[in-house]
Amino acid sequence: MNKILDYLRALFQLTFPSLCAACKQVLALQESCICSSCIFKLPYTNFHQISSNPLEKIFWGRLKIEEIYSLLYFEKASKTQELMHNLKYRGEQDVGVKLAQILCDKFKEAKRSIPYEAIVCVPLHKQKLKLRSYNQCTRFSQELSKQWKLPFYSEIIIRTQNNSSQTKKSRLSRWENVEQIFCLKNGEKIKEKHVLLIDDILTTGATLEACGKEILLVEGTKLSILTMACTV
Ligand SMILES: [Zn+2]
Repeated sequence: MNKILDYLRALFQLTFPSLCAACKQVLALQESCICSSCIFKLPYTNFHQISSNPLEKIFWGRLKIEEIYSLLYFEKASKTQELMHNLKYRGEQDVGVKLAQILCDKFKEAKRSIPYEAIVCVPLHKQKLKLRSYNQCTRFSQELSKQWKLPFYSEIIIRTQNNSSQTKKSRLSRWENVEQIFCLKNGEKIKEKHVLLIDDILTTGATLEACGKEILLVEGTKLSILTMACTV
């Protein structure tokens, strides 16, 4: 029976080959979403192996955080950009799942402890969510929640303003643009908890700061940040 299933799977793959979300090469049968070669070569920060990392400086004097980590370096025209683009704009939500699995493997290999008690991701405004039909961080967060056995709360923070794209704005206007765009809802669920706040790409940190501040308004919370990629 297994042989028949393997045969059918191979036949399906030959007819409708799945491509690597980073390099577009045809995936081997045992591969999913990202090919083994890309998994090996992706630009990992490896920040989980050092006690302090360059990302911490971004929030100095702005936001009290316990830990901050980013899995990949983001550069233009890189494999990371291709992955993020596929995840964000082409509906390839499996990229989020795969990156979460890679991250969990790295933490496990490094025997890194998981001090977090709840997972929250940066929300999209409801209009953008309707347009895109998904939040690019949801599947990533859900996979971490599953692997680390932590609750994932998707409605603790609400985005109250649909601010325009951040990418073409200057650093200063980005900061101005994100002030007070989030509001807290159902805060009691994270009371006294160490919350892991998740986003896709860390650039200036303005969005994460605004969102993180709302989380820290809840009594007894501690905050850590994790992103799939960073431009630092
Ligand atoms: Zn590849």
